[in-house]
Amino acid sequence: MKLISVIVPCYNEQENINDFYYELMKNEAYFKAQDVDFEILFVNDGSKDKTSDVVKELHERDNRAHLISFSRNFGKESGIYAGLQKAKGDYVVVMDCDLQDPPALLPEMYEAITKEGYDSVATRRVTRKGEPPIRSFFARMFYRLINRMSKTEIVDGARDYRLMTRQFVDAILSLEEYNRFSKGIFGWVGFNNKWIEFENVERQKGESKWSFWKLFIYALDGIMAFSTVPLAFASVMGVLFCLLAFIFIIFIIVRKLIYGDPTSGWPSLVCIISLVSGVQLFCLGIVGQYLSKTYLEVKKRPMYIVKEEV
Ligand code: UDP
Ligand code: MG
Repeated sequence: MKLISVIVPCYNEQENINDFYYELMKNEAYFKAQDVDFEILFVNDGSKDKTSDVVKELHERDNRAHLISFSRNFGKESGIYAGLQKAKGDYVVVMDCDLQDPPALLPEMYEAITKEGYDSVATRRVTRKGEPPIRSFFARMFYRLINRMSKTEIVDGARDYRLMTRQFVDAILSLEEYNRFSKGIFGWVGFNNKWIEFENVERQKGESKWSFWKLFIYALDGIMAFSTVPLAFASVMGVLFCLLAFIFIIFIIVRKLIYGDPTSGWPSLVCIISLVSGVQLFCLGIVGQYLSKTYLEVKKRPMYIVKEEV
């Protein structure tokens, strides 16, 4: 018999847990027929409501439901990581508690792995209906920006809702970096991946736990975790400033030779200031380059991930 671990990060989700369980269990008959059982890991991310009590009650009724409670709110990424570490399943799926990740897609995802031979099946929402337009706008901008700056592909609208094989999960766990950005990590580890698209579903009950500000910080985390382009920014500016300074110097010398020097002192001062600040920025950029290399080293990401050896 095979086992699927369902990881559900929960933060103040007391109203959603039972509904989620009910929706998930609609798949039970299908998976029983495939000789597959469930293990559900609710990761309570320091909720201030009755989330942990609701899960404990659920555990009384069905001992396949488990609770992992954090000592405080550590964020969804930590919840996912804890779940992946504790999961015992042959397959692992990460799902939101608010039913925005439709459990009804699970059989299709399972078949893509078992019948079509994929290593992971990810989902993306193709619409953002029901979301504030300003949030959608910034989300789109973010994906365009990060995909220009990072070599790792990060798909617009991708959810963390993903079914993975054990091998894929172990690969994810081998990235032990502290600042985690799952959307990037999933792409970074590679493997054969299938995308399933669906229409956005609005949150069942309760409110989104992500304020605009929290999302903004998360977006910056994502860029910093998967790109060192911002560190090169100083170098580029430095080179521009130096070029500008040279053009200035030539211009001023020529003007001096032809017209003399009406306000003595200031042209040379401007040249010196722009040249020196250019050199400074350029040097800062060099330091940035070393910093970026150090940053990649301290993350201790594996140098490669083997999929198969014969
Ligand atoms: N979540 C969490 N810790 C947090 C914030 C959110 O575990 O600090 C969980 C939350 O309970 C939900 C999932 O992450 O199951 C997605 O959060 P939410 O639905 O609020 O985000 P949105 O769908 O609005 O992006
Ligand atoms: Mg949600």
